[in-house]
Amino acid sequence: MSATTILTGRVLSFARSPFDGDPAAAARTDEAVAVAGGHIVARGALEDLRAAYPGAERRDYGDKVICAGFIDPHVHYPQTAMIASWGKRLIDWLNSYTFPEEMKFADPAYAAKIAARYLDLTAAAGTTTMCSFCTIHPESVAAFFAEAQTRGQRVVAGKTCMDRNAPEGLRDTAQSAYDDSKALLTRWHGVDRISYAITPRFSPTSTPEQLEAMGALWAEHPDCLMQTHLSEQTDEIAWVKSLFPEARDYLDTYEEFGLLGANGLYGHAIHLEPRERDRLREVGAALIHCPTSNTFIGSGLFDMAGLMAEGQRIGLATDTGGGSSFSMLRTMAAAYEIGQLRGAPLHPAQLLWLATAGSAGALGLADRIGNVAPGMEADLVVLDLASTPAIAQRAAEAETLWEAVFPTIMMGDDRAVAEVWIGGKVWRGA
Ligand SMILES: [Zn+2]
Repeated sequence: MSATTILTGRVLSFARSPFDGDPAAAARTDEAVAVAGGHIVARGALEDLRAAYPGAERRDYGDKVICAGFIDPHVHYPQTAMIASWGKRLIDWLNSYTFPEEMKFADPAYAAKIAARYLDLTAAAGTTTMCSFCTIHPESVAAFFAEAQTRGQRVVAGKTCMDRNAPEGLRDTAQSAYDDSKALLTRWHGVDRISYAITPRFSPTSTPEQLEAMGALWAEHPDCLMQTHLSEQTDEIAWVKSLFPEARDYLDTYEEFGLLGANGLYGHAIHLEPRERDRLREVGAALIHCPTSNTFIGSGLFDMAGLMAEGQRIGLATDTGGGSSFSMLRTMAAAYEIGQLRGAPLHPAQLLWLATAGSAGALGLADRIGNVAPGMEADLVVLDLASTPAIAQRAAEAETLWEAVFPTIMMGDDRAVAEVWIGGKVWRGA
């Protein structure tokens, strides 16, 4: 039997979604959590855990919060080195900044370098799992998975497929996208903590033939996730309608080709038509809210309250590097601000749930990650609620746990991340 470690602090877990009923009452706190063999084996009173695991090591985090590691279900790791590029909206931003950078991932050494850099930056920010778009180059996927595998990290990723409206050097074909995606899926899906996601970038950069090929591949591997983008900007939606004149709406360009399903992840989903909302809910697809990206690229205000009320599945993501931060704390803050602009502020419990259990649910991984409970994989973040003088002086006045957590959500960054556990081990860098 492997060694057990007992962590003490304010262990925060969710008993249910804080979007169902009183948000503040959705969570529980415990004194201690026991970790062994990469999994959480128990949580509860320190005295009880000591009695159950008499030889266990102890790691005391004082009054810090111990919660599930953050889960970021929509990122582009290849955009790490071009995050915060100035002054463009979606289509110009892709052409001016994104595509030239993605071109570099034909070089496996460059892909490996950026994959390691990205995973270092996100671990420092408390993110333990992400779902990433790669580039059209199979090497970019292999580099990311190899680096995550070395770190024992649970990740999802896929080869981005584009066969039109992208520059020479960043286009595949319907057939090569199918063949390369299938080869990567066969090689990596289910290996250690790695999952493959079928990844058409978005319908403007795929021909109907390519979308059909991706739909065929998904039908052959329905347990895989499928990730793409949907209704991010109004110009983009108009472009989609001109490219697919027969389609009822943007979502229909996916639905038509078998790319709508419960294992589908649809990034942004801001300007949805009523039929799209109905269909997404009916199939139980996941919408991924990317608030720092939506403000940074000027896309619009996601309707969190309305979509949650109608029963949509929703995750929260950075959309690095359209998003302007690697930090899920900053991303929660931006989600709060967008909620305010729509007249529906999110409770801190809802923000933290979205960044952990909610996003795990969007990835279909809620039985493994995203919460602190026996049987779950031991991916944890330890948060210091007094990481800067400005945050500390506010938290000191707090009368409840949520009042103490909220300043760290709004004002915190990687300095608030005191420690990260990945797969049952303290992460100390590569
Ligand atoms: Zn994206």
